[in-house]
Amino acid sequence: MTTRAEGDRPPQEPPEPSVERRSFPIVISGPSGVGKTTIARRLLDEDPKTDYSVSVTTRPPRHVEKDGTDYEFVADEEFDKLVEAEALAEWAVVHGHRYGTRKSAIEEITSAGKDVVMDIDIQGGMSIKRCFPDAVLIFILPPSEEVLERRLRGRATDDEGVIETRLRNAIEELKWASRYDHQVVNDDLDEAVRAVRKIVEDERWDPKRGTPRAGCTCSQ
Ligand code: ADP
Ligand code: 5GP
Repeated sequence: MTTRAEGDRPPQEPPEPSVERRSFPIVISGPSGVGKTTIARRLLDEDPKTDYSVSVTTRPPRHVEKDGTDYEFVADEEFDKLVEAEALAEWAVVHGHRYGTRKSAIEEITSAGKDVVMDIDIQGGMSIKRCFPDAVLIFILPPSEEVLERRLRGRATDDEGVIETRLRNAIEELKWASRYDHQVVNDDLDEAVRAVRKIVEDERWDPKRGTPRAGCTCSQ
């Protein structure tokens, strides 16, 4: 029989199970005012395994927006240079302005082992799916056109001309919902966030994202 000498360390706890998997892009699209930004923020707050890809845009900032946090606001010439240097994973003209995702933004987040939340339009969504076939595409739908208009006006960040353009474009955008992997109606916000979180969690554990490698948890 062996006894433990004084000063011996107590038996180690078994290691925490560790799982290796590939990070993936989570694309959130939908018409303006539907609640994409609100849902994305909640997802980022509640799920520490996600991070936000800050887009570059030529649109002027709204009074509540911060450069570098909401967007990287750039002049037209600067955007041209990014396109020329092939620094963007995708870009598109949306509601009359250019918006794009830096390749470096995706790389920084994935190399930290996190999933990349992208609030981008349907053109961007389709491009990302082509470059990253394992991307998860989530389309946010309004409960009705009336509610969409109320939210867009209630946000009070855009003038009448901008609101009208965005409402007109919404009709076209909604036709793309079926091309997305998942559709979530944003009626009750908490329910919509729960639905998006469940989609992300289910996708995360899908075996196609790499073989989970559990650490040894057996007792011998
Ligand atoms: P998007 O990013 O799609 O343009 P926002 O996230 O800016 O939309 O939301 C537009 C407005 O609607 C905001 O004022 C937001 O607070 C509000 N909103 C978002 N989701 C809901 C919801 N489920 N119920 C009521 N208001 C909402
Ligand atoms: P907003 O001006 O309301 O912030 O955004 C307008 C639209 O541009 C939204 O549909 C938003 O998802 C989209 N958008 C924001 N960033 C990007 C991006 O990097 N690429 C693309 N393709 N669309 C973007």
